[in-house]
Amino acid sequence: MRVIVIGAGISGLACATRLAERGAAVTVFERLERVGGVIASSARNGFLFELGPQSFQLTPALAELVRTAGLESQVVSAPLRAPRYVLAHGRLRSVPMGPQILVSGDLLGLGSRLRLLRDLLGRSAPPERSESLAEFVERKFGAEVLDRLAGPFVSGIYAGDPRRLGLRDTFPELYRWEREKGSILRGAMAAARSGGSSARPRPTLSAMRGGNASLLEALRAKLGDSVKLGVSVSRVRVAESPSSAAAGYAGPGTPRGTTFTVEIGAPAESRLVTADHVVMAAPPAEAARLLADLSPRLAESLGGIEYAPVAVVGTGYRRAQVRHPLAGFGFLVARSENRKLLGTVWMSSLFPGRAPEDSVNLASFVGGATDPETTTLPPEAILDIVTRELGPILGISAAPAETMIGLHRKALPQYNLGHRQRVAEIRAEAEERFPGLHLVGNYLEGLATGACVDLAFRTADRIVAENGEAPRCAEA
Ligand SMILES: Cc1cc2nc3c(=O)[nH]c(=O)nc-3n(C[C@H](O)[C@H](O)[C@H](O)COP(=O)(O)OP(=O)(O)OC[C@H]3O[C@@H](n4cnc5c(N)ncnc54)[C@H](O)[C@@H]3O)c2cc1C
Repeated sequence: MRVIVIGAGISGLACATRLAERGAAVTVFERLERVGGVIASSARNGFLFELGPQSFQLTPALAELVRTAGLESQVVSAPLRAPRYVLAHGRLRSVPMGPQILVSGDLLGLGSRLRLLRDLLGRSAPPERSESLAEFVERKFGAEVLDRLAGPFVSGIYAGDPRRLGLRDTFPELYRWEREKGSILRGAMAAARSGGSSARPRPTLSAMRGGNASLLEALRAKLGDSVKLGVSVSRVRVAESPSSAAAGYAGPGTPRGTTFTVEIGAPAESRLVTADHVVMAAPPAEAARLLADLSPRLAESLGGIEYAPVAVVGTGYRRAQVRHPLAGFGFLVARSENRKLLGTVWMSSLFPGRAPEDSVNLASFVGGATDPETTTLPPEAILDIVTRELGPILGISAAPAETMIGLHRKALPQYNLGHRQRVAEIRAEAEERFPGLHLVGNYLEGLATGACVDLAFRTADRIVAENGEAPRCAEA
């Protein structure tokens, strides 16, 4: 049995690592000359900048991947309960954790707190039709909670537009709690009592001491020659076999045992590689292109998944030139502030080794689904916007000593209204019609790094279980 993984982001490398651990001979094709996908780190003059995700929650699957990479000692964790802030009415306001939001802090006014209390003591039912996140929050808690809490929060996770993100697509447990308990807060408390997954303490917020990309580099080193860098896959087809009618197209249900032909390299010098299993770990727009011959329907559904662009702007300042104490996680920005800045993480307050002793390292985000245009500006203009907005918020009196920008035209998948349904259709079409074709990635079951690893591991385990023997890969 032969297996090919397309894409060496965290999804592809986690899947390949697990397959290799289970004794499979696996080949990973990555079109870039480096592994990591959107995860990239860069050190300069004593500053360590993350150009993609700044940190991750160390879920059990991710912790296992780190162990397999031999990097357990390299995990650094953020202080527990580092305060978080929201910029509202021109001031950073602390966000009280959990139920304390009902009684403390000045983020929410009395009206919003009463709405929260009403949820706790009263009863409501969700409407029949699917609601957007914004519709849900406004109906339950009012415009201020949307502006100052839910809006910034979804900017921080999805860089998304709450008017388009679907409630059931993003936070299905909120919908369930209202339907079953008539209250979000009572639902959350019941889940906590029963020890459900949404009630377990969130895993520690962590990063890799040498930069998050070091995890991916260690995985690549472990996989050795099976990772082929600078090799772009251009097409995936069903291979000629006694049981498939024609190469390149599978009829309504390809039998088990079908093999795939994977075309690699530029058209003029392309080569064919065959495999019994193909793990598609490239983003959906690319997956759509590669699978277009196999199933136009699948390609159309994959191509319809939206991504928001994000620019990550790393800035390093001398400590003495920043008045704010930067004690905490960082801040998000209320929508009504009308700023370009979505938020800033105070990286040197969370993790060691991010800046020289006398300096601080700040990671800011602009763009997202509500302001894609900003990411199309030249890097100097993006940097100028960020430093001009950061200045008065944090009391910064000088230009940054060091800067770095990570630009992602397709940064984060948007779990907009209907996303779950679309994903169900994609899975039915891909995995039921083409046994041996497996999809992994951040658009399927959650965009967090830990969710990607979890899906990648389960996919690898399924492949091994289906075959009952170690799969292998061979060039045609
Ligand atoms: C700015 C930003 C901030 C984030 N913040 C967080 C955070 O705080 N916490 C968190 O948990 N997660 C965060 N995430 C999300 C998380 O980082 C991603 O969901 C995850 O890294 C995606 O990994 P992936 O392997 O699925 O996809 P990708 O990283 O996109 O990897 C896909 C790979 O496929 C390759 N590829 C594409 N086409 C081909 C082809 N034809 N042939 C061969 N190879 C191909 C690409 O080059 C790429 O290497 C963030 C993401 C971004 C962009």
